[in-house]
Amino acid sequence: MHLHGTAKINEHGRLEIGGCDTKDLAEQFGTPLYVVDEALVRQRAREYVEAFQASGFRFQVAYASKAFSTVAMCAIAEQEGLSLDVVSDGELYTALQAGFPAERIHFHGNNKTPFEIEMALDAGIGCFVADNFSELQLLNAIAASKGRKANILLRITPGVEAHTHDYISTGQQDSKFGFDLAGGAAFEAVRQALGLEHLVLLGVHSHIGSQIFEVEGFRMAAAKVAEFAVDVKAKLGQTFRVINLGGGFGIRYTSEDSPLPVRDYIGAITDAIRTNFTDAGYPLPEIWVEPGRSIVGDAGTTLYTVGTSKDIPGVRKYVAVDGGMTDNPRPALYESKYEAVLANRAAEPAVETVSVAGKCCESGDMLIWDLELPKAETGDLLAVFCTGAYNYAMASNYNRIRRPAVVLVKDGQADVAVKRESLEDISRNDVLPERLRKVEVQP
Ligand SMILES: *Cc1c(COP(=O)(O)O)cnc(C)c1O
Repeated sequence: MHLHGTAKINEHGRLEIGGCDTKDLAEQFGTPLYVVDEALVRQRAREYVEAFQASGFRFQVAYASKAFSTVAMCAIAEQEGLSLDVVSDGELYTALQAGFPAERIHFHGNNKTPFEIEMALDAGIGCFVADNFSELQLLNAIAASKGRKANILLRITPGVEAHTHDYISTGQQDSKFGFDLAGGAAFEAVRQALGLEHLVLLGVHSHIGSQIFEVEGFRMAAAKVAEFAVDVKAKLGQTFRVINLGGGFGIRYTSEDSPLPVRDYIGAITDAIRTNFTDAGYPLPEIWVEPGRSIVGDAGTTLYTVGTSKDIPGVRKYVAVDGGMTDNPRPALYESKYEAVLANRAAEPAVETVSVAGKCCESGDMLIWDLELPKAETGDLLAVFCTGAYNYAMASNYNRIRRPAVVLVKDGQADVAVKRESLEDISRNDVLPERLRKVEVQP
């Protein structure tokens, strides 16, 4: 069993996180329950900040809030000195509700609506990461209509695609995101942006993938971006002040995953930028990165109550819990793997192999295949680890199941960060059109 952050097995043989006994958490807040280890979130944020401080570069660590966007999480990111990436009006709204400083907010996305652009300009965000030619025109026009200037980075596709242990250096032109480097779109985007009066070009952005366990992809991206910067400077006389190398730093979901320490990723990035830019006689830029998963992923644990089980002799035993693909769609979407324990009997040895099913009307609603557990009984608590990123954020109301609460645990204290949805919440936006209403029959 691999325990993350402050998680441990206490003297009662139960899983404890942030000094809180998971049995008490389940009793107090109900299940399913997302439990977030606040100390671990803060530790991860500090690992990034400290790695950059050691490098001597000017930097921004922008938490990619799509991984887990709530008001409390934005407040923590703010307190740790992070910047924030948002990709929608809803994420921007959440950040602003948290009082997050607008100048540290970056707006991403391949199809920002006029409403979103206006909202972001009115809030005074730090920059837009411009994704395509039509957006350049739209941004410029809306900024002009407000008598404003919009800071932008250009998102370029550097021809490096990294995924876990593989990285591919190909054209990789076939992406919905960004301006292609090899085909010349990136250069043309710089040329156009410089000609648009209401845009201020700060630099370029690249994001090469997710759940990356090697530094090679980042090194390759840094080299390509540097080469591009030098070319732009020579031909257009424009110097980039900011190089953003995106996110995608891997975390350990199971024993199959072997992420590097944060300082190794950041060390490789800062070394590569320093070497490539210095060799070209180019002024050292500010470096921005955008970790999402690696800030919150391993700090999250989902607690479920075990309900029914179904044993098919010689085939498999299913154990069902009171949540599933509604609170964690990743196994169904990506065949993602998770580790779990019986939280109320965490010290007991495993005696059987079971598969953990959710409660949705969908055969694909499985959380874990072939998990070693003590004999799970109805009412036991199952804790699934590493659910901090892209779980709550991707949760749905399929089957009209209510989304769970989120609690932050720290030093023995548990605080609700998101309330469990109520049954009223489920039909809150439903409207019964007049013509469907029951007609009162006159006597
Ligand atoms: C999703 C995304 C991130 C964060 O990715 P993680 O794998 O969660 O670190 C950062 N930047 C961009 C542009 C993204 O799309």
